[in-house]
Amino acid sequence: MGKLFALTMALRFSNTLTHQVEEFVPARDNTVRMYTCGPTVYSYAHIGNFRAFTFYDILRRWLRLRGMKLDHVMNITDVEDKIIRNAVAEHKSIAEYTAVYEKAFLDDCAALRLERPEQLARATEHIPEMAKAIAQLAEKTYTYQSDGSIYYRISKFPEYGKLSHSDFSGMRSGARVDVDEYEKADARDFVLWKAPKDGEPYWDTEIGPGRPGWHIECSVMAIQYLGETLDIHAGGVDLVFPHHENEIAQSEALTGKPFARFWLHAEFLLVEGQKMSKSLGNFFTLRDILEKGYQPEAVRYLLASVPYRKALNFTFDGLKSAATSIERLRNYKLRLETGRFAERDAESMLARTAQAQKDFDESLDDDLNTAQALAAVFEYVRETNTLMDSGEFPIAAAQPALALLERFDSLFDVLRPSSKEGALSDEEIEAKIAQRAQAKKAKDFAGADRIRKELLDLGVVLEDTKDGVRWKRK
Ligand SMILES: [Zn+2]
Repeated sequence: MGKLFALTMALRFSNTLTHQVEEFVPARDNTVRMYTCGPTVYSYAHIGNFRAFTFYDILRRWLRLRGMKLDHVMNITDVEDKIIRNAVAEHKSIAEYTAVYEKAFLDDCAALRLERPEQLARATEHIPEMAKAIAQLAEKTYTYQSDGSIYYRISKFPEYGKLSHSDFSGMRSGARVDVDEYEKADARDFVLWKAPKDGEPYWDTEIGPGRPGWHIECSVMAIQYLGETLDIHAGGVDLVFPHHENEIAQSEALTGKPFARFWLHAEFLLVEGQKMSKSLGNFFTLRDILEKGYQPEAVRYLLASVPYRKALNFTFDGLKSAATSIERLRNYKLRLETGRFAERDAESMLARTAQAQKDFDESLDDDLNTAQALAAVFEYVRETNTLMDSGEFPIAAAQPALALLERFDSLFDVLRPSSKEGALSDEEIEAKIAQRAQAKKAKDFAGADRIRKELLDLGVVLEDTKDGVRWKRK
């Protein structure tokens, strides 16, 4: 490193692989080839999972706002130990069992406004490719067999541990593990292919009957869709070891090339200061939180507001203040759109707006510092609101201020209220407001109040101003 970014600050990320903050530019065609580890669809995703998925979304959007094209692949793990256990217990096929949770996952992502990657890749649709990769690893003598299962021989890959910066050279040779869930910091030869067990589903392939281990799917699908070296591989910090370490061992043994140039990892999420667990009663799916009446955009805001490299403490107070912050920005936008401003020189205000956007952009270029980017916007909103109060905000600054807000929202995407069941369209609301105006004109004040109350019950707030009626959704 040691590069200076004095003139133009470049986009840079903390790379887990090098432990450095490095300038990021895609290797080819201004296109970011990116792989992110997706959900295991054995139950509903929890709020900790969605921290990582929200980080992927912010990452995607910022790369695109920075003018890059995206080629993003995310896997859907639809075969592993827990899925098979649950499917067998419920007398369902794997496909029947996982379809429910895959759909739930995609619905949850849509509620949180997470963009769909260019490609979603299901593990079960790539089994022959995985078998082929394992055959190639066997050819290169990276594997051995035991009881019909095939294992990766870690001692054959001396760089093992380079991502987690751990020294595994003293590991017990031949110690192996064939479950998809691991003890932390215990490197063992991991399973690539599992022999069929009685009553469990399996596939017939060129390497025999069985099913893939968890790690091989990511290596195979990433290389298949994105090529031998990715620009970015991202995931939650809990995946660094062993999952990503194993992905590197498999992929680099197959290709002889570096698997990913940048490894980005989102930190843990705590709930009310504690590790989330079912026994503590602080384990929440997105559905649990929405059922308590919180809006998905407040959840999105809270998850996005803490920079991905920092642990995020998810609290219900935090969720309430996220909702308040969104409300403040919506009110500000409404004020910009409908307010009457002064005909006065706008030069210094335009310079202030440009500075706010620069601060916003530079914060995000700095390893996606979303907290600082939000601070830049809120400082600007506070200052300009004060100027509006004193009648000093120039009319010519309103459009640029809206443009700044639009840039903010193309990343954070929280200003549009989520539509509720039975919600009125804009046209229906305008029609009600016109009816109310008619009633008032006819001195039918009870009727006018009734319409106001009716709208309020449907979540629409009216405000009578000297410039006419303003309305907004609650
Ligand atoms: Zn993965």
